[in-house]
Amino acid sequence: MTSTTDHHGDTPAPRRSIAVISHPDAGKSTLTEALALHAHAISRAGAVHGKAGRGGVVSDWQEIEQKRGISISSAALQLQFEDTVINLLDTPGHADFSEDTYRVLTAVDCAVMLLDAAKGLEPQTLKLFEVCRTRGVPVLTFVNKWDRPGKDALELCDELEQRIGLVAAPVTWPVGEAGRLRGLLDPRTGDVTTYHRAPGGATLAEERHLTPDDAARELGDDVTDAVDQAGLLPAPDVESFLAGRTTPLLFGVALTNIGVRGLLEAVRRFAPAPGPRVTTDGRARDVDAPFSAVVFKVQAGMDRQHRDQVAFIRVVSGTFERGMPVVHAQTGRSFATKHAATVFGRDREIVETAYPGDVVGLVNATALAVGDTLYDPQGPPAVFPPMPAFPPEHFVTARPADPGRAKQFRKGIAQLAHEGVVQLLVSPDRGDGEPILGAVGPLQFEVVAFRMEHEFGAPVRTQPLSYGLARLATDADVAALAGARGVEVVTRADGARLALMRDRWVLQALRRDRPGLALPELLVGAA
Ligand code: GDP
Repeated sequence: MTSTTDHHGDTPAPRRSIAVISHPDAGKSTLTEALALHAHAISRAGAVHGKAGRGGVVSDWQEIEQKRGISISSAALQLQFEDTVINLLDTPGHADFSEDTYRVLTAVDCAVMLLDAAKGLEPQTLKLFEVCRTRGVPVLTFVNKWDRPGKDALELCDELEQRIGLVAAPVTWPVGEAGRLRGLLDPRTGDVTTYHRAPGGATLAEERHLTPDDAARELGDDVTDAVDQAGLLPAPDVESFLAGRTTPLLFGVALTNIGVRGLLEAVRRFAPAPGPRVTTDGRARDVDAPFSAVVFKVQAGMDRQHRDQVAFIRVVSGTFERGMPVVHAQTGRSFATKHAATVFGRDREIVETAYPGDVVGLVNATALAVGDTLYDPQGPPAVFPPMPAFPPEHFVTARPADPGRAKQFRKGIAQLAHEGVVQLLVSPDRGDGEPILGAVGPLQFEVVAFRMEHEFGAPVRTQPLSYGLARLATDADVAALAGARGVEVVTRADGARLALMRDRWVLQALRRDRPGLALPELLVGAA
């Protein structure tokens, strides 16, 4: 780390740990680059999406990643904005949308919901928002692409309220409708900021600040309209935001850096600082307790040459010092953290010190699984609740390609399920010799195939199933579903029974034919 504040004295700079949630193409990569331009990037963990032709940093040790030209990793970018260190955790999207995307949201204190002005709430945004809601992660909203024709600002606010029950509380309001942005109004003061666009987003846009009188003179009715519209909505306040009732709302153009600084200011003002985390005994670990951390992502070694594995931890309490011994709560074993890095891929950067809210990648900590806890042996032990299982949407059956490797097959599948790579679902009809694997994203099955072959020496044959929806099945549901077509009841590793079916139309038909079915939704991200 290069933050000077971190090197002197014992008091770390204030921290915010956030993630951007959005649907593909809303502008997450563009916004990430813009945020890094406005705030000083201290370090990068992993790649922010190595899209073809963008020249992004792509970690070179993952074969699947290289083959596909996408990043299946999620890691963090650390930014220094004024006195505050902002940890921006990446939520993988696009083809690499998987359990990792959800898991990142268990490691942040606030999410920025990024909307395309022309599209409003889109399916992936809604899914990610549901995880935030379930986990009590408060949400700021940034409406992007205001340089293009889009929806009406009030219509977007209405959509937020109607569809997800969030009242928009404007931090900024656009002067001029989408596609004709003339400036951004601060409804608190009536001041307007105008921007002289910096094409390509390579440099900061030149800003001018206008008093209400100057703005009225220069921008006329557009300002009056903006003031009137913003006046219909409540002012943002921390309490209702943290309670999940309101969302501080900002507008901008990530591509030309408009409104991006305002977003950083809003993150600093509204996002909560890292706080205590509840342990399995029902108590809470305060941030100033001795070191503890939770593993929220494991990137397993896929490169046979390097046999590399990075476990990403979020520091919950205390100070992490590289080299310090830590206890792995799940095994009781202690190990040294010599290989701690914020960057992997082409250039790893060594982490010396990290504070609550920060992300550290522990290289070659192969015993660690997602959801595990680490703590300082000098202090009291801690165990944080395990990572929740998220509703799978993709299913395959798996068999050993070589029947003589059945033992290795079982061992490998069990290990991968334990690590949370996939969910292991056993169907009475198929038995545990041909389990069903469930995942949030289909890329997980490639990870399974690769690791089963190279790590466990048991290549697998997988067969996709046509299911796309899983619901919880109560005892009564299991009885009622006997003999039903198009639905398969399976048992998850934790003992829960799930009913698998193609889609919600099948679910509707089942409900019609068998009134009284409960089939509750699998909660997204309940602990
Ligand atoms: P991601 O898929 O969410 O990471 O989206 P990208 O950052 O890759 O952006 C998708 C497309 O939208 C790209 O062509 C961007 O150049 C474009 N884009 C992003 N932000 C803006 C914006 O504010 N205005 C306009 N007009 N285009 C944008």
